Amino acid sequence: MGQHVLLVTRAAHFAAERHVHQRRKGEHAEPYFNHVSEVAALLAEATDGKEPELIAAGYLHDTIEDQNVTHAELEERFGREVSDLVLEVTDDKSLEKQERKRLQIVHAAHLSHYAKMLKLADKCANLRALLTSPPPDWSAQRRGEYFDWARDVVEGCRRVNVKLEAEFDRLYARRGEATGGQP
Ligand code: NDP
Ligand code: ZN
Repeated sequence: MGQHVLLVTRAAHFAAERHVHQRRKGEHAEPYFNHVSEVAALLAEATDGKEPELIAAGYLHDTIEDQNVTHAELEERFGREVSDLVLEVTDDKSLEKQERKRLQIVHAAHLSHYAKMLKLADKCANLRALLTSPPPDWSAQRRGEYFDWARDVVEGCRRVNVKLEAEFDRLYARRGEATGGQP
């Protein structure tokens, strides 16, 4: 138990430090840490707090992609399971954005069980963000396209956790609120 509290607390603190100057793209420009803590909280609730490595990976999931943290550093600090999980949900930034988005759909079904849960929680948090604090420069069409792309990624991540899947479907059902009713 003590080791689990340490792992999760260290992961949260490390994420807070690394994302300190990063903000979300939404109209409220929330601190980026709010997003990763939301993902970690979704994972904790979905697993009744029983999967500390998964919760730690929730806090850390954007550190390689956005803050140039390496897999080796995460492995040294948090162990192989957590670092591998973060790497699994990290896009290859040498590719074009359009290609990265296509590959997320293709790769989703081949992810590990925990990585699928992490993807699901991340997409839940992003749909919530589009409903409550969308990027001000995104058109209704772009918000709708994001909802549909997230749904396509999540298709490959189903049957791993009932709570996360149900939350995603509840949020996707609110697509019309995010697009002002546009298709
Ligand atoms: P993305 O579509 O990749 O931006 C979404 C990502 O931004 C999310 O996955 C999330 O990342 C992060 N994010 C941060 N704040 C928020 C927030 N408040 N709400 C939702 N997501 C947030 O945007 P890019 O700027 O990278 O654009 C890439 C793609 O968008 C291109 O492929 C292009 O084709 C398309 N595009 C479409 C346009 C249109 O009008 N239809 C116009 C311009 C581009 P994380 O998952 O890491 O948390
Ligand atoms: Zn994220």
